[in-house]
Amino acid sequence: MIGAIDIGGTKIAVGVVDDDGRVLSQAQCPTDVERGYGEALERIEHMLRAVLTEANAELTGIGIGSTGPVDPFTGEFGDVNFFPAWRGRNPVADLARIFGVRVAMENDADASALAEAAWGAGKDKKCLIYVTVGTGIGGGIILDGHLYRGVDGAHPEIGHHVVDASGPLCMCGFHGCWESLAAGPAMVSWVESRMPEDYPHRDHLTAKRICELAQEGDGLARQAVDREARYLGLGLANLITLFTPDAIVLGGSVMKSAVLFLEEIRRTICRCCRFVPYEKTELNLASLGEDANLIGAARVWHHRFTQGGGQHA
Ligand SMILES: [Zn+2]
Repeated sequence: MIGAIDIGGTKIAVGVVDDDGRVLSQAQCPTDVERGYGEALERIEHMLRAVLTEANAELTGIGIGSTGPVDPFTGEFGDVNFFPAWRGRNPVADLARIFGVRVAMENDADASALAEAAWGAGKDKKCLIYVTVGTGIGGGIILDGHLYRGVDGAHPEIGHHVVDASGPLCMCGFHGCWESLAAGPAMVSWVESRMPEDYPHRDHLTAKRICELAQEGDGLARQAVDREARYLGLGLANLITLFTPDAIVLGGSVMKSAVLFLEEIRRTICRCCRFVPYEKTELNLASLGEDANLIGAARVWHHRFTQGGGQHA
């Protein structure tokens, strides 16, 4: 039984996951960054002990998926946007000391990629790219069953390649990177910049709401969805051209509306990927559902300690 910990910008989830990727019990709490790292660590310890008791489980190890950047080798938090004061703190070492088991941590997108590759929509695929589209765009690359790592263990930022150099400036430094044009907030700002004064859906616009409005036939929302599909298609076409993967697995909140985008995505890939056998790359929706992050955190442990995924791929 693996203790799984998913550390996000707004909440921390803790669970017990068995060897088949099933979540046996779980708990969660707000991240509450301002209460400090030490206090968050205490809450994690408390929740983990509670879920272990609930599942009547003995702990083999602990896997962590965290919003990044994190250093998978030292176990330290890097310059995470959501909790700058936690930089350099080391939940891997701390939880290993508290629970007396081996602990491993990866970026949460890498964790989800590992889970989909082992137990989900990318099962049995040698070369797999997991893409999550939500408030940002992130992902993980699996080659021959192992996480691809860059120099010094760095996590490649597939959401920040340029798809339109005349696009908006992103924190990453590029104008018009994929995330700046195709993440959920980009849909919202595009609609907001074009909606007339009397647009009846002005308030509380979200990417999810825009997708619903498009399905109800709202003209502006439909244009936003078409634009989203085009940009999603371009980014995915780039990934297929660069990596020719066996499969791309699509997750994240925006992809819950994938039915609205898939046709145009496939058309774009077909138009843009003529130099590679794009038709052999499967485009699959993530299959692990709401618990994907916890399942991913657990898979981080398996990947590190039973698959030898501690080193550079
Ligand atoms: Zn960017």
